[in-house]
Amino acid sequence: MKFSTRAIHVGQEADPATGATIVPIYQTSTYTQDEVGVHKGYDYSRTANPTRSALEKQLASLEGGAFASAFASGVAATAAVLNTLSAGDHAVVTDDLYGGTYRLFSSVLVRYGLEFTYVDMTDLAAVRAAVRPNTKLFWLETPTNPMLKLIDVRAIADLRSSLLDSKTSRKPLLAVDNTFATPYFQQPLALGADVVVHSTTKYIGGHSDVIGGVAITGDRDLYDILRFHQNSVGGIPGPHDAWLTMRGAKTLAIRMREHARNAQRIAEFLEEHAGVARVYYPGLASHPQHELARRQMSGFGGMVSFVLEGPPERGLDFARRLTYFSLAESLGGVESLICHPARMTHGSIPKEDRERRGITDGLLRLSVGIEDADDLIADLEQALAATPLAVTAS
Ligand SMILES: *Cc1c(COP(=O)(O)O)cnc(C)c1O
Repeated sequence: MKFSTRAIHVGQEADPATGATIVPIYQTSTYTQDEVGVHKGYDYSRTANPTRSALEKQLASLEGGAFASAFASGVAATAAVLNTLSAGDHAVVTDDLYGGTYRLFSSVLVRYGLEFTYVDMTDLAAVRAAVRPNTKLFWLETPTNPMLKLIDVRAIADLRSSLLDSKTSRKPLLAVDNTFATPYFQQPLALGADVVVHSTTKYIGGHSDVIGGVAITGDRDLYDILRFHQNSVGGIPGPHDAWLTMRGAKTLAIRMREHARNAQRIAEFLEEHAGVARVYYPGLASHPQHELARRQMSGFGGMVSFVLEGPPERGLDFARRLTYFSLAESLGGVESLICHPARMTHGSIPKEDRERRGITDGLLRLSVGIEDADDLIADLEQALAATPLAVTAS
């Protein structure tokens, strides 16, 4: 079965009880048992719920993994993967990281005795230098947020495999946050990752109306640990949220094609424009890792970052003048958004760290929606024309 067919059919057989063609929202906390312990596989909805199970089957299939565990948010899914570590363990992490992941690692999990080293993972020598005897996890995002750098998943997977512990014959885990690329454009498990995490809030849900997360793996033992954590900590999505996410994911393929087509046109438009200083989009030939993007991804996604010419305040002035791009956090919905990472999504990262990673006060990030590209470009054009090069700081 091909991707689009799996999105619509896997986990979504007609309801065995009623024949309902669409998986029902099983809004129940508990299940009546025939005898003690004799039931249809469900006993309590924190442990398992049929609507959530359908979503988990669907997403596991799309990501090319055998097993998925759905969570109430992307950060809950991230926390579940980190829960496979123990106090004293060390993780090597991409430095250009989703702000909430950075906050979870650096403000919460360090208090539980986990250690983190943040490195530029485009530099394999730096990754190797960051490895310690207690390294148990590599955590990466690609493309990164918001700089849209690419990390070579297969190269990191090979490096990880070379770190086999001779005593335990175990190697560190490789986890990939695949939120930006989506399984439609990038399949990290096939590139050697052990587990993939998504904020399903973004492209998978796709309509900016539900928060969710998922962790997907092909490894039965790892899945058992994640499932144990899902049930023990309880960060599960409710059945209605699971259902909305599943409905969104049915159209992932068709949406991603449109997102990428629009983003490519917008990136090219911005790159040509005299009022724009820099554009970051993996689909541009000028992107320093365009070749890797072509090898590792089957499309370049819907996120475009850029810096305008002129002082940083010009960016905010420009953003205010847009009609179709709402000034908002988040990404991956059908509607276009613009965000100012330094003051919004990445505000929790200290300024010095931020600037070192290229997240300057002038950087803007677009989540390009699936409106008509002509309308989006006209909107950007009018806002650029209306934003004078030398604005005074407001
Ligand atoms: C949004 C996001 C997360 C966190 O997901 P939530 O659903 O907001 O908890 C993690 N990683 C990336 C890349 C994200 O964009």
